[in-house]
Amino acid sequence: MRWLDPRPQRRGPIPWYYTGVIMYLIEVVALARLPRTLPQSFSYFSLESLEEGAVVEIELNHRRLFAMVTRSIGVKQAKQDLRSRAFQLKKIQNIISRASIINARDRALLQWISEYYLAQPSTVLKLILPSFITDTFEVSSWPARHEIEPYPRMIEVVPEEYPIERYQKAVEHALQNGRQALILVPEIERAETLADVISEIVPKERLLVVTSSKTPRELRTSWHRVRNGEPLIIVGTRTSLFFPFTNLGLIIIDRESSPAHKSWDQEPRYDGREVAAKLHSLHGGQMILAGYPPSLNSYHLAKDEQVARLIPSRELVTSPLSLFVDMAREIKEQNEFVVFSQVLKDKLRNVIQDGGRAFLFVNRKGFAPFILCQQCGFIFRCSECSVPLVYHVQESLASATLLCHHCGSKNKPPDVCLECGSHKLKAYGIGIERVAKDLKKMFPNVPVLSLLHGEPKETKNAKTALEKLKKMSCYIAIGTEFAIPLRLPRMELAAIISIDSALSLPDFMQTERLFRSLSLIRRLSSKIFILQSYAKEPEMLIDLFHGSFEHFAEKELKERRRFHYPPFGELIKLTVQDSSREEALTQVKRLYAGLRIVPHYFGPEAVEVTNPYPAYIEKKKGNFIFHILIKIMDASKSRDMKLLIAEHTPDTVQVDVGPQSLL
Ligand SMILES: [Zn+2]
Ligand SMILES: [Zn+2]
Repeated sequence: MRWLDPRPQRRGPIPWYYTGVIMYLIEVVALARLPRTLPQSFSYFSLESLEEGAVVEIELNHRRLFAMVTRSIGVKQAKQDLRSRAFQLKKIQNIISRASIINARDRALLQWISEYYLAQPSTVLKLILPSFITDTFEVSSWPARHEIEPYPRMIEVVPEEYPIERYQKAVEHALQNGRQALILVPEIERAETLADVISEIVPKERLLVVTSSKTPRELRTSWHRVRNGEPLIIVGTRTSLFFPFTNLGLIIIDRESSPAHKSWDQEPRYDGREVAAKLHSLHGGQMILAGYPPSLNSYHLAKDEQVARLIPSRELVTSPLSLFVDMAREIKEQNEFVVFSQVLKDKLRNVIQDGGRAFLFVNRKGFAPFILCQQCGFIFRCSECSVPLVYHVQESLASATLLCHHCGSKNKPPDVCLECGSHKLKAYGIGIERVAKDLKKMFPNVPVLSLLHGEPKETKNAKTALEKLKKMSCYIAIGTEFAIPLRLPRMELAAIISIDSALSLPDFMQTERLFRSLSLIRRLSSKIFILQSYAKEPEMLIDLFHGSFEHFAEKELKERRRFHYPPFGELIKLTVQDSSREEALTQVKRLYAGLRIVPHYFGPEAVEVTNPYPAYIEKKKGNFIFHILIKIMDASKSRDMKLLIAEHTPDTVQVDVGPQSLL
């Protein structure tokens, strides 16, 4: 077990007073995010034996910290240990709790996360004992944790149209049996919405919302109520997975295919769905995977696992007429660059004349995605990131601006080309501002709403925007990816204005992501769905237009199996970055050299380590980024491989197990 494996700190002779006196060697994990360069497990001595899970206070680098005991050994047994490791031991400062504050299930979860995600034990412990708990750490008054026999397991995969009634039924059933239930949601707003719906059938005092919008005091109260085993319904974001459940009989993963279930910016980069599945295997009971379309992982799980059940999606009551428009032909026919195809213009006009509503999807913010010199082909790029600057003309910026979407740098639009001095500069491509401008020209009397992240006026938060939309009968809403989870009201027309840059991204999950986004947008429409594209009709559209998720999934899974991509293999993405390109390259090459031992030891048919490759956006915020991808093909050796990988991965390397993107 990695988190019980202390690394020696200092070497020196064993002082005389450690011999002949009854004492105990205590190993602890500190309750603090420590620099990754420090060892994660520390040894102290104590005059009494302490059980695993007891809490003590230690001194570490002149700081007083809480720590959890992971092992306690009488000195007679430990003598050999002491001699071989030659520790210079300090005494623990205080005993905060003699009783264990965690139970066997917490320990199992801790160990699993630490090993599965290659995470430091102290970092994982901070998830299980968050700061709103350790800030006022009055553990002496805590009742002991119960150990409970797990319930029999059952998994259900249900489509989006049912959930509310299905949730209510499952939740009611859990409460009637005196159990706890967890509804895991991808976004904070969704937690509030769902809680409203659940509160219709559940007594208010039995329902807890757990998100970062709650105060530490509220979270602390909820945490203790869960720990005391009260039958409760928790609706929460990822944080709630680490609540001290003692009686968990139901887990619902809401909008299960949402990418927001994965933690991407902080270690460990865990996937809420995977942690929920682990919780489920420890607690047993029922697990419901809900949402349309299901993720390929869940679909695969439901098909292969005996405990899982896939409930096929109910056909849409009114399936919209779906049209594909070849924009290359359109431009040829109209003899100029156009944002709207003729058919989209006509249909839009019809809908608006009838007082209807429309949603238009644009996958780019700003007015135009890049500025190009027509003389020499020069593209204006951010100096800190290797991406084109996006041309913005929105009112909130005083004047037209070239904005970097990665570091936020603002630049004045140039008058002449930096390369050749030519004045022939042109803004290329379609951004959401350009679509809004054209619409206002075409339909001066119709409200046009932009739904995009960070739009200050229209959508300070999603809730206000939605409420506004629900009150209006005739409008055109335009949105980026940001608009998809909002679940707008149904409209007469939905269209994809442009999505081509996303169609060509060379990423293993890209087709699944696109299918999901396009399905959700198509489902917004009750009458017409239009997809404009410069690409030839993508194959996936056939399945999309005919609503055949199963056909799409089978084909896609076949491809994944061929290349050992998840769910048929496991991926680990390692990332190195540095402000100097040379330094980043040196580091990543050194990392690669160290990791070559992994396929050497386990065999090239069991695991693959790719050559280092630059990130798709090679430079971000002044840092050069390189990746190495590890593909584990033999799942039975995954645990051992990860231990070896961890040994050869220095602390400066970012680790992402189960990355959502390889780019
Ligand atoms: Zn030029
Ligand atoms: Zn930048």
